[in-house]
Amino acid sequence: MPPVNPKPSCLQKIDEFVRTSKVAVFSKSFCPFCIRVKNLFRSINQEIATLELDELEDGAEIQDALFQKTALKTVPNIFINGVHIGGCDNVMEAHQTGRLQVLLSKSQEAPSPSGSAPQEPEVKYDYDLVVIGGGSGGLAASKEAALWGAKVAVCDFVVPTPIGTTWGLGGTCVNVGCIPKKLMHQAALLGQAINDAKKFGWDLPENVNFNWLTMVEAIQAHIGSLNWGYRVALREKKVTYLNAYAEFVDPHTLKTTDRRGKVNNITARYVLLATGGRPRYPDIPGAKEYGITSDDIFSLQHHPGKTLCVGASYIALECAGFLAGLGIDATVMVRSILLRGFDQQIAELIGGYMEKHGVQFKRGYVPTKIERIEEGSPGRLKVTSENGDGEILEEEYNTVLFAIGRDACTSTIGIENSGVLLNPKNGKVITDEKEQSNVPHIYAIGDILDGKLELTPVAIQAGKLLARRIFGNQTLLTDYANVPTTVFTPLEYGCVGLSEEDAIKKYGEADIEVYHSYITPLECTVPKRDDNAGYAKLICVKSLNEKVVGFHILAPNAGEITQGFAIGLKMGATKADFSNLIGIHPTVAEVFTTLSITKSSGADVFQKGC
Ligand code: FAD
Ligand code: NDP
Repeated sequence: MPPVNPKPSCLQKIDEFVRTSKVAVFSKSFCPFCIRVKNLFRSINQEIATLELDELEDGAEIQDALFQKTALKTVPNIFINGVHIGGCDNVMEAHQTGRLQVLLSKSQEAPSPSGSAPQEPEVKYDYDLVVIGGGSGGLAASKEAALWGAKVAVCDFVVPTPIGTTWGLGGTCVNVGCIPKKLMHQAALLGQAINDAKKFGWDLPENVNFNWLTMVEAIQAHIGSLNWGYRVALREKKVTYLNAYAEFVDPHTLKTTDRRGKVNNITARYVLLATGGRPRYPDIPGAKEYGITSDDIFSLQHHPGKTLCVGASYIALECAGFLAGLGIDATVMVRSILLRGFDQQIAELIGGYMEKHGVQFKRGYVPTKIERIEEGSPGRLKVTSENGDGEILEEEYNTVLFAIGRDACTSTIGIENSGVLLNPKNGKVITDEKEQSNVPHIYAIGDILDGKLELTPVAIQAGKLLARRIFGNQTLLTDYANVPTTVFTPLEYGCVGLSEEDAIKKYGEADIEVYHSYITPLECTVPKRDDNAGYAKLICVKSLNEKVVGFHILAPNAGEITQGFAIGLKMGATKADFSNLIGIHPTVAEVFTTLSITKSSGADVFQKGC
């Protein structure tokens, strides 16, 4: 822990030294890392000011005060133009990426941004960049911009759900998305593992009980630590965190309102919109009064009981999957098809697997009314639904979870005062390939980007690269093609590239060759379950030397497998490249090195042995 009360005289000394030196290096004369840093600056002809702490009487106290100020315990500890850079590794990395040269090229008083964005007449703003939204994209962008010397503020505020759920810094992924979802997925997999364990010789009691609240509390405790970590990271990077709701007053001015209602106006040279999305509710009686969404389920303080998940995409299927895996009665209400936009052969395999593992499906129905028939936690609800033929279905559930899509958070941010154009169909921000809106100093990333994927790593990549382009003279754009993704249902479905339907649409059926196989993971053989429940396919284009344009796998740990193979698709791998690769035995992933049967041959692809 840093010292609680560093000597004021030491802090003053540090501030004075940093203020008066373009490059301020706190060093020790004998330290090899300090020598490396000094040599680096010498090699690029950059003058530096050095304070050798081992030669000063109060050197140890200054080092303690530096720790308090920068959270860095060791030397060298470097500042450029008053901005804390870090230690030896940070400087070396900054040199390699070109960031060091950009930081050095700026004047001490006004670190003004440069880059692809148009230059404006010199106007004083409170911040170089204000980011609206402290989620995956916003945090990545704000930290990166600060690294390049920009003065940054990030506004993050969570509007509570209709039943009052709220959460901390970090946005959807950390609080009500990927992280708690994956942890509940893991809890469900452990349930399966307990059953398998008995078959492998573990002597376990017949009934092993699951406690919902214990799981929720453990997951929420982990999330709490992540929220804290984000706050610390912002502080360390000198990003101002405003726990306040931001709205445009004019294109450069934002009104911020904190939870106590305190209003403030801040100005920004650049504004980044990273406000993400929130779950949509259907416009039917009782939806908001009695229904919940993914924003509530992960912190629900009571066992949900018999649950209806409305919707048939990522969120509905994943939630129903882990609920059933936890032994909870789960039903999915499907309006049309499963996993629109995904490979439909695999979507149906997922449906079949889920059904076999306890999830019920109501196909072709949409809910029309939710009524409470008994108070309580969870209480009892009556759900009325209807199919395309006008047939009515009434059923009781304890919990109804809507997962029917998400709305971009752009309707209550005073967008009309900014001049930024939205797609009227979905409220998403229209940008060019540089994530720049029609108002040149206003950018958007993440889930609110029109026509782009709603995934955490996509938002992070866009945020980082955008900050480097605006403040670091860099040019690299986010590549939105061939983004790998995984649906955790709980048998995982990983894919990258085109679905079979889209490949046929793009290249024509005659030019497509599909290599495929069913999979029975070795670990399923002893417990004698899920024979041939997994599936692998490579979609290749004949006229492009069998270039692989679609990679699909349904198997345990498909996310891990897909992440690795995705680089192959990004690099233009062909079927021959996959076949030339030697497999790792015995794994599921090795199937991709031995695929030899084409779909067009109609040959049997059920796995029978090793
Ligand atoms: P967000 O992370 O949503 O952050 C936006 C932030 O801005 C929020 O904190 C919001 O409260 C705040 N905000 C909004 N308006 C304002 C305002 N006016 N002022 C101040 N603050 C404001 N993606 C994956 O890659 N893998 C997964 O496994 C995965 N699982 C998911 C599971 C679920 C249940 C959900 C819902 C999503 C999942 N996602 C997953 C998607 C992923 O979470 C999002 O793509 C990602 O979080 C988007 O990041 P973002 O920065 O665009 O927005
Ligand atoms: P989607 O927009 O992907 O899907 C919405 C689903 O709800 C569709 O099945 C749709 O059916 C159905 N639906 C829409 N309106 C109604 C209605 N009125 N009544 C009944 N059903 C309806 O939304 P999600 O909420 O599932 O996911 C949002 C995004 O979050 C995803 O696109 C994904 O990018 C991200 N995400 C990523 C995850 C991951 O990486 N593993 C996990 C979870 C989310 P229809 O097909 O008929 O339109």
